[in-house]
Amino acid sequence: MRYPQLSFVRQNNILFIRVFMILFLSCIAFRNNLCLSSIPSTLKALPLDGHFTFDEVHFAAKDFGNRYQFLPAAILHPKSVSDIANTIKHIWQMGSHSELTVAARGHGHSLQGQSQAHHGVVISMESLQGPEMQVYTGNSPYVDVSGGELWINILHESLKYGLTPKSWTDYLRLTVGGTLSNAGVSGQAFQHGPQISNVNQLEVVTGKGDVVTCSEKHNSDLFHSVLGGLGQFGIITRARISLEPAPDMVKWIRVLYSDFATFARDQEHLISLRRTFDYIEGFVIINRTGLLNNWRSSFNPQDPVQASHFKSDGRTLFCLELAKYFNQDKSDVVHQVRHEIEHLLSQLDYITSTLFLSEVTYIEFLDRVHVSEVKLRSKGLWEVPHPWLNLFIPRSKIHNFADEVFGNILTETSNGPVLIYPVNKSKWDNRTSAITPEEDTFYLVAFLTSAVPSSTGTDGLEHILTQNKRILEYCEKAHLGVKQYLPHYTTQEEWRAHFGPRWEIFVQRKSAYDPLAVLAPGQRIFQKAIPFS
Ligand code: FAD
Repeated sequence: MRYPQLSFVRQNNILFIRVFMILFLSCIAFRNNLCLSSIPSTLKALPLDGHFTFDEVHFAAKDFGNRYQFLPAAILHPKSVSDIANTIKHIWQMGSHSELTVAARGHGHSLQGQSQAHHGVVISMESLQGPEMQVYTGNSPYVDVSGGELWINILHESLKYGLTPKSWTDYLRLTVGGTLSNAGVSGQAFQHGPQISNVNQLEVVTGKGDVVTCSEKHNSDLFHSVLGGLGQFGIITRARISLEPAPDMVKWIRVLYSDFATFARDQEHLISLRRTFDYIEGFVIINRTGLLNNWRSSFNPQDPVQASHFKSDGRTLFCLELAKYFNQDKSDVVHQVRHEIEHLLSQLDYITSTLFLSEVTYIEFLDRVHVSEVKLRSKGLWEVPHPWLNLFIPRSKIHNFADEVFGNILTETSNGPVLIYPVNKSKWDNRTSAITPEEDTFYLVAFLTSAVPSSTGTDGLEHILTQNKRILEYCEKAHLGVKQYLPHYTTQEEWRAHFGPRWEIFVQRKSAYDPLAVLAPGQRIFQKAIPFS
């Protein structure tokens, strides 16, 4: 028997491999095409109160960050909770061979595509028309709202009953589901905790399409998972927000410091007091010309002559921002508030000539960022790239951070506001998914930068991103124990490091409530059909 020649065998093998590869690749293409092209028809067949759109999907590929754009295959405009549940159940039943994912989109104010779903389904939460917003008065008042409701609407509705939510974000055109998926932090958080500490109950659609009501007492694991859970465990369709009696007026105060240590000491002192201001924040001012003159449009200097001599040019200054709430119609209270403010201010060590005061309505105070939004929009400066960086910094490391960042990295300009204020960890519930540093007090430092489109200078995107990178690298190298807020990472290793010892529980929760990793793919923590570990 003659053996075939070696070259003939080799040729046959090559031919076989080629044929195999062609068949294999066309199978993948066929499967993908089948999947993608059959998506609309299977979704179209779902019985819904609302509807899907498949063509006009560009708006769901945009967010406030203006840097990431992932087109979805479809947008669901739900009119009922069952629209959301049916859609997710349908995708869950398609199993792991379907790559379809689902992202809830609040107001699309994410910064890095967190509410987008590449070739997936985006649920436009603002379309959800559940039961009307309902305020309950009584000893422990609360309001029941849809997950897609804007906080500004909740403010207006609860004020009709003389009530208000306790904890806010600085900007109110954000949705309940969007901020509760992160934390919701502002100048009230030192006293009331973040927004996730002020929720009594949630209605959630899990990654399997189940509709579950949860609270501290019922389905508490799901309740805590979802709060601060980055949209990973379920879609918040309703929330019960705790309320308190509302003030109608606010004394709004700003004072300046040139020394960071004194500024931080005063902030920490104020947040430690039982009777203190109702709102405590602060911000960094880098090399601003005519700063106090600009404030005069909305604030009055306590001492106009001394204030007019103050120069901010070329300096780094720290502004402590405070607010005290009161009711105008009770004259004895107004008197008492003035007295309390004087007493509190007398304990602080700011530059005396820089005391500025203002009196505004409660709504004007809470909705203050909207005034800037309107101005920026009119100049076309709202829809620019926003390479924001938000960090939680342990109290023991804030001085190292300030020395390096405000002394070396950000010296010329900040390209936007830089907020800095401490909060009390005791007001955060560590059963939620939110990640914070391990100390009793930590600072929120928010670099709220705007980039000038197509600029290659210090106000351009590249420059700001490099600066952010320098800040993060410094934090890492100096082992500051910093945690990102509104976190953004590109690898699972980084997510593991972010969660630290809480990673295991985060993964367990994911496999319990969204085992196929259908939800919130834009966070880039888990990938559909790739097992978690
Ligand atoms: P989206 O950006 O649409 O969604 C955010 C994430 O939550 C996504 O992963 C999304 O899939 C998920 N999600 C959305 N809705 C739901 C839902 N119903 N159920 C489950 N998951 C959901 N944050 C603060 O804490 N404090 C501030 O002071 C503050 N100020 C801000 C000011 C401005 C001008 C902007 C643009 C943002 C600010 N933020 C602040 C950040 C804000 O909390 C986040 O942008 C957050 O994402 C809320 O935005 P959104 O409602 O548009 O949610």
